[in-house]
Amino acid sequence: MKRSIKVLTLFNIPVEINFSWFIIFGLVVFTLASGYYPLTDPGLPYSIYLLMAFVSSLLLFASLLAHEFAHSLVAMHNDLPIHGITLFIFGGIAHLEKEPDTPWVEFKMAVAGPIMSFFLGLSFFFITQALLAAGAPGYAVSISNYLFIVNIAVGLFNLVPGFPLDGGRVLRSILWKLLGNLRRATKVASGFGRAIAFILMSYGLFLLFSGMFINGIWFVFIGYFLQESAEASYRQVLMRRFLTGVKAKNLMSRDLVTVSPDLPVDRLVNDYFLKQRYISFPVIEDDNLLGIATVHLIKEIDQDDWPRHTVREVMVPVSDALIIDEEAEITECLSKMANNEFGRLLVVEKGKLVGILSQRDIMRLLDFRSKIERY
Ligand SMILES: [Zn+2]
Repeated sequence: MKRSIKVLTLFNIPVEINFSWFIIFGLVVFTLASGYYPLTDPGLPYSIYLLMAFVSSLLLFASLLAHEFAHSLVAMHNDLPIHGITLFIFGGIAHLEKEPDTPWVEFKMAVAGPIMSFFLGLSFFFITQALLAAGAPGYAVSISNYLFIVNIAVGLFNLVPGFPLDGGRVLRSILWKLLGNLRRATKVASGFGRAIAFILMSYGLFLLFSGMFINGIWFVFIGYFLQESAEASYRQVLMRRFLTGVKAKNLMSRDLVTVSPDLPVDRLVNDYFLKQRYISFPVIEDDNLLGIATVHLIKEIDQDDWPRHTVREVMVPVSDALIIDEEAEITECLSKMANNEFGRLLVVEKGKLVGILSQRDIMRLLDFRSKIERY
């Protein structure tokens, strides 16, 4: 995700903030300073409300972070690596490298977040009581009380049983245990997610037409977001299922057209790019793979100079990012392709080139399987 900036690293997990979070942060500060605190603590100057709102928003941010870390630490404890945490809109996402292996692990991971929020909520409840008993200033009591309310609200909202919210993950883990099938469990749980999204959006539209504009927008927005995530998560599970066990050698194309490194660039263009149906050619010399010649790199050279340059000068030299073993899983190929700019990999067996794998080869399989499988 590019629209995020990294803010800190905790327990070896990098934490990023999505830019949408700054909008929410501003909105929360504004709502608290202009609407909430003037009601709980009337008669204070606006600058004090603004300060209270700012402190509250920072503590809310820390609370959401604690919620995400609860998920992540349980995941790591169960040998599920976490890439990082991104905070955005109303919460965050812990980036899992793979799905949990068992329903029980998923269940523990999913409930950890809301448990943390309830724990924080209760802690702020007791802090509020202690502040009251000690005769602390009103603004301190109000901030603490707000965090009590908001943490309980975060815990409750996340328990709504619509996948991929935490409650939906709990539901999925139970269905997974009952049905013994992760894909069907995900299908049902994301169906719940879509249903809840529909209810939220309808309620939002109802509010909009009743003149409650801001609240209406919020509900439509949250509903839309939930709907999108429910579908994306289901697609992801399907894709993983379709690709599991498929290897590079099963999908690669074996009819290779290779070029020599001493070939002049004008001949590369005229005899290969213009005559063959490929846009990149492996470069081979004495049975050794040297690199790949692609059409992008030729654009950098003036057309008149083509005869004076050879393939060797314009090819991308072979590197780890460009090659993959024929036994590698397709999921691994996909993540490798995402990191090289060609959208293809040279498949090797014991260092010798045996085929080329392109994103299109993988998409063709996905397309085919999604047509023949009933799901
Ligand atoms: Zn959560």
